[in-house]
Amino acid sequence: MVDIGLNTVRRVKNLKLDRYACYLIAQKIRINNSMPEKFDFSKKEKPPQREVFNEDMTSEPKETAEERERLFAEKFIEENEKQHIPEWEDFLKKVDFPLLKNIFSKLLKQCGIPEEKMNFIVPEKIFSREWEIGAGTYWPEFNVITLSKVIEDKGYNPEIKRLRALIHEEIHAMSKSICIGWSPEKGTFKNQQTGFFRSIYKDAKIQSPVYNDPQKGGTSCEFFAVFNEAVTEKITGELTKEYLTQSNWPRNEIEDYEKEIKEHRHYTYGNIVPLINTIIIKMSLRLKIPRETIWNAIKRSYVEGEKFEDQKIIGLFEETFGKGFLDDFSDLLSPIFAGSEDMIKEFKEKYSLGFLSRRECIEAGLYDKDFQSIYDK
Ligand SMILES: [Zn+2]
Repeated sequence: MVDIGLNTVRRVKNLKLDRYACYLIAQKIRINNSMPEKFDFSKKEKPPQREVFNEDMTSEPKETAEERERLFAEKFIEENEKQHIPEWEDFLKKVDFPLLKNIFSKLLKQCGIPEEKMNFIVPEKIFSREWEIGAGTYWPEFNVITLSKVIEDKGYNPEIKRLRALIHEEIHAMSKSICIGWSPEKGTFKNQQTGFFRSIYKDAKIQSPVYNDPQKGGTSCEFFAVFNEAVTEKITGELTKEYLTQSNWPRNEIEDYEKEIKEHRHYTYGNIVPLINTIIIKMSLRLKIPRETIWNAIKRSYVEGEKFEDQKIIGLFEETFGKGFLDDFSDLLSPIFAGSEDMIKEFKEKYSLGFLSRRECIEAGLYDKDFQSIYDK
């Protein structure tokens, strides 16, 4: 007897959704090599991870970019006298750049991107100075990294702090970046994307339904700053661990560092990594997909520069968190700005992201006295 009651319809609908979610996520991941062949779309030649266009979308001539980068270096040295402050000069000499590049290349390969498409910032294009907003900056305009003096507070290993700052900025550079329409007068691009982050001028056309109307902002609007930083920082944790274990970093320092991490000590952006972890757990429970798979999908989307223009991808988030979730998420101000903390707090409350219920903890297999430690992974 075939039951065609409402429950069956509902079951089938749910089944479809789950499978659909898996399918979408499978497209996004292939990070574990067990994905079936039919999900493999990587055969198409991929463009380089960093692309620079003129306003009319023709490729920017190489010389223009080189000239811009040369002027940056010239100006930096004019203002700061030299390329580096002593602490970074010493530290960068100790960094095993080939190893670091290898670690990055492995991650890209897992996302179906060959090494030759990678944008890895070589030591010659890294600068440091006494002061910087945050620990460092990746400048998509000039394709350089600037780093600042590391604050040596108690309990943190300053060398690992430096390593993390460097890896964090290299991750920004490695993620998909698209720069459109260089304006020498403004010293910026009209449109810019790195990873999930986008800055869009008000007359630019955007196709994503999750970006609010850029007209309401000033001359430009920024989107997904927090999502982008949270993912960058979570990957930073993973790659730092890989670097520490593969390099000949003193064993006792690695152990102390791991202890610090376990004690919920965060190196940067303390509150946004727990936010992304909670999002992963909630999506995993709702969509019945392992946490690791969700994280890999997010990671891959970040590396590929997901634009959230596909209603099905947006649907994956709305299925878990409700309508408007990505729209609100895209609005959160970068943690370096005043007011960001309150915005994040409000967002967490609206979408119940501040905590996991007892039921959710049990379902996620996290209900034990140590469950908080998942936040530090
Ligand atoms: Zn960052």
